[in-house]
Amino acid sequence: MKVLVLNCGSSSVKFQLIETDLQRIDQQEEVVLAQGLVEKIGFSPSILRYQRLNENPLKMPELKDTLPAPDKEPIEVLGHEEAIQYVLKVLTDAERGVVSSPDEIDAVGHRVVHGGERFQTSVLITDEVVEGIHACVEFAPLHNPANLKGYYACKEVLPNCPHVAVFDTAFHQSMPPKAYLYGLPYGIYQKHGIRRYGFHGISHRYVSYRLGQLTGVHRDELRIITCHLGNGCSMTALDHGRSVDTTMGFTPLEGLLMGTRTGDMDPSIILSIAAKEELTWGEANSLMNKHSGLLGISGVSSDMREIEKAAAEGNERAKLALDMFSYRIKKYLGAYAAAMGGVDHVIFTGGIGENSEMVRRDSCLGLGFMGVEVDEQRNKKCVGHEGKISTESSRVGVWAIPTNEELVFARDTVRCIEGVTK
Ligand code: ADP
Repeated sequence: MKVLVLNCGSSSVKFQLIETDLQRIDQQEEVVLAQGLVEKIGFSPSILRYQRLNENPLKMPELKDTLPAPDKEPIEVLGHEEAIQYVLKVLTDAERGVVSSPDEIDAVGHRVVHGGERFQTSVLITDEVVEGIHACVEFAPLHNPANLKGYYACKEVLPNCPHVAVFDTAFHQSMPPKAYLYGLPYGIYQKHGIRRYGFHGISHRYVSYRLGQLTGVHRDELRIITCHLGNGCSMTALDHGRSVDTTMGFTPLEGLLMGTRTGDMDPSIILSIAAKEELTWGEANSLMNKHSGLLGISGVSSDMREIEKAAAEGNERAKLALDMFSYRIKKYLGAYAAAMGGVDHVIFTGGIGENSEMVRRDSCLGLGFMGVEVDEQRNKKCVGHEGKISTESSRVGVWAIPTNEELVFARDTVRCIEGVTK
């Protein structure tokens, strides 16, 4: 069957059309037929990037870094509905399309960022599910509305297809209360649902599954720490296949230092700054989410490549940002190993985790006492490639594994339709 997977942001729609079914999943023989991205929805012009892949193998390269320039073209789309119509137009185009009609699309998998406590797995979207996603808008005011817009638009043009929601938060619903509760009065949790939800669940789930394939040992038998390091960054402790703790919290602000987000910080700081500088709620929010992290510390950029470059040229604040970034990862490596009573594997993924040998090396530096030893040559070799980067004698396996969230959307979509639980 042909599954369209959609990842709708506030001004973008990322998509892949994947040929898959239960048998292909079993044999790992899914094929990505086409992929693309509509960016800057509502701007003039918007941008379409599109790539027809046909018989390319399953593992996809990083979309935005690899699409050749001619595939980036200006288009005019005012909203999500038009963007999705455009996606279908290009997929069915006589020359560069991969299907002859939208009817050939058998199902759609939608990324939904927040499923609250209600959604613990991926689900077939019904009116009740839509209501549930709406109810979580208060937890993800930027993301869930965009995800819903994508669903409505897609339902309009593909009314007879089954649609499936795949949640970013669902994987972390296995955390115990001691990990997901904050030290606030318990009534606050009961009344407002204030707790750790965690994010990037689809990525943490995929790379831990992939590790099982690479090692021949299923994640259910392992203690794994996954580090998803992109513009947003989070780490997860996976104890025998279950997420038992994760660094992002009630919102994606908590935990590691990120491109523009603070990560962990004493909450009183923001009360103090807001009072001193007379910040509005919106300004305080923007300070913590958009002007902090790597950008705020370095004053150079939120982009790790530029920070590494500036640090190599001697920029002291860029060096400090790098130091802070890796130090916080190291702290959580120790903390999560302690939480699980040990660790068998550490995985790095996301744009930084997959590509920055420096961040991987520095984050693991000095962790020989807990059995973590990175091999310099292997680490250098695995830039943008999958592989083991620890030494032969390292007790803990350290890995670089490119994430593939789209594959999880597609697989969950098939399983939901076929009524297979996993
Ligand atoms: P998003 O969270 O938006 O999906 P990505 O996973 O694509 O982001 O990660 C983006 C980050 O990855 C940026 O900070 C970028 O600089 C970093 N990155 C990409 N390639 C490299 C590289 N070769 N070396 C270091 N950092 C890189």
